[in-house]
Amino acid sequence: MKLYNTMTGQKEEFVPLRPGEVTMYVCGPTVYNYFHVGNARVFVVFDVVRRYLEYRGYKVTYVQNFTDIDDKMIKRANEEGTTVKELGDRFIKEYFDDAEALGIKRATYHPRATENIDNIIEFIKKLIDRGYAYVAGGDVYFDVSKFGDYGKLSHKNIDELISGARIDVNELKDDPLDFALWKAQKEGEPGWESPWGVGRPGWHIECSVMANTFLGQTIDIHAGGPDLVFPHHENEIAQSEAANGRPFARYWMHVGFLNVNNEKMSKSKNNFFTVRELREKYDPEIIRFFILTSHYRSPLNFSLELLDQAKNGLDRLYNGLENIKFFMNRGAEGREYTAEERGFTDRVDGYRDRFVQVMDDDFNTADAIAVIFELIRECNSFLKEGIHKQVAKKAYDVLMELCGVLNILEDKEQVVDEDIRRLIEERQKARAERNWALADKIRDQLRDMGIILEDTPSGVRWKRV
Ligand code: AMP
Ligand code: ZN
Repeated sequence: MKLYNTMTGQKEEFVPLRPGEVTMYVCGPTVYNYFHVGNARVFVVFDVVRRYLEYRGYKVTYVQNFTDIDDKMIKRANEEGTTVKELGDRFIKEYFDDAEALGIKRATYHPRATENIDNIIEFIKKLIDRGYAYVAGGDVYFDVSKFGDYGKLSHKNIDELISGARIDVNELKDDPLDFALWKAQKEGEPGWESPWGVGRPGWHIECSVMANTFLGQTIDIHAGGPDLVFPHHENEIAQSEAANGRPFARYWMHVGFLNVNNEKMSKSKNNFFTVRELREKYDPEIIRFFILTSHYRSPLNFSLELLDQAKNGLDRLYNGLENIKFFMNRGAEGREYTAEERGFTDRVDGYRDRFVQVMDDDFNTADAIAVIFELIRECNSFLKEGIHKQVAKKAYDVLMELCGVLNILEDKEQVVDEDIRRLIEERQKARAERNWALADKIRDQLRDMGIILEDTPSGVRWKRV
């Protein structure tokens, strides 16, 4: 498997630190607002990266943090007359609502910066002890001049950086490139006790610390949006490698920008669409599908017309699925496959091979979706009256397997079947426990769903009415 590493600027063979296991850290949202489609690109893309790694047999430990303390959080909380804590609680809840709608699986851990303050303080102490950080007033700064590898991720030259950098009037740092690890509390800001007085952590240090705490000193994949390469990720490297004396991340992955009229979608430009508002008019699966139709590193233009086009594409997939299911239910059975049918099932396996091939090449979801469309097209022309049921079932299984990796194309009837099975099991359990009231309640619930139960000697049967 190959992936493009921002650090080397090349596609590299993916070799995790421990065979069979992957540790992955993705910089998550600042939770002061609903997230927009540009943010969603990061979450959806790395959800697929994670799912694909799992599909290929890796055990993935996935961390996506919440930045729940920074200038924007404080400003917004003050505007709304609420606390930073309440603002964070609210938009974390809203994050999960939208993320779930987009089919994004929960990370193994979703740590919050404010719940890791003790570890952050310990980490900063270590940086001071090792001579990489200094105290100035109630602030603590990282001394960039001490870290020889500074600039290695963004391929920036220190001298150029210095000439472009400025010291803000409020900052007490020695050098324009130095950045805050800890900020002394100002009027109207929340703060935590520390050896340097009451204050709060800087943005960069929280990610170094949470990656270290939940995944260890060296992680396999560190990922995020394109605007994080510099300075955020550069600073994370400096902090982590200075503190631990070993490489921080083996692979750095960054998505391309999601643009509107060739300009980055961003809250500050006010050219954004939140996922929440789009959900009023579009099934969130369309947004997910739209994001995956391009390669994750390419710039991706967003407009409502493009979203409508994505809807048409997804509809074609759903029609293809219905066609396959038709033959799965009505096809022939009780005979051998014909030579044509054998040839077809072999070709179906070939689509799986091609899917794996393109996904192995730096997670090319655009080509992977093209392979799925080809499979559908071939099914549409091959499946016809008299075809063997199992042949259609084979196409169905492969289609659902590949779409399952991308988490698109849900077989809605299948989902209902699973709900029904679960309810029947619950009713059986209730009956075994002689909880007749609950058993009857579940039977009524199923009847409302149009399902009639029949208790037979060989178990429960159900049918639709
Ligand atoms: P934020 O909530 O602003 O911290 O952003 C969360 C994530 O979304 C970060 O990884 C950003 O780099 C990413 N991001 C923000 N805007 C865009 C965009 N227009 N295209 C792609 N990624 C973006
Ligand atoms: Zn981060």
